[in-house]
Amino acid sequence: MNRHCLIVDDSATVRHVLRNSLNNLGWSCSEAPTGVQALEKIAATSPTLVLLDWNMPVMDGLTCLKAMRAKTLLPRPIVILCTSESSIFKIREALEAGADEYIMKPVDMDILEGKLAQLGLVQTGCAA
Ligand SMILES: [Mg+2]
Repeated sequence: MNRHCLIVDDSATVRHVLRNSLNNLGWSCSEAPTGVQALEKIAATSPTLVLLDWNMPVMDGLTCLKAMRAKTLLPRPIVILCTSESSIFKIREALEAGADEYIMKPVDMDILEGKLAQLGLVQTGCAA
């Protein structure tokens, strides 16, 4: 598995924290501060995983997600939407738009690791 993650968040601090944590889990990372730049990076880096902030200026995460899912991207990136929205309606909207998972912000790394395991993104056994 190509363990590359695109981190999309308008906060440089959030991107930095997530990048360090994912690096420690063996992931390489690239970053984008807006949904528009995320779409460009997805085309350029073919990430396995996208951590996508919901609330961003220019293009929010949900709009970016819908644009992603309207394209045929191979491999299909797994998307975890990161949100401070706890409303079940918002969460359902995200899942219907093609999010594979969602996680509450601020992101707790233990919870994120659990989600990665559920999504089959945790390497088991010996490294190749
Ligand atoms: Mg934000």
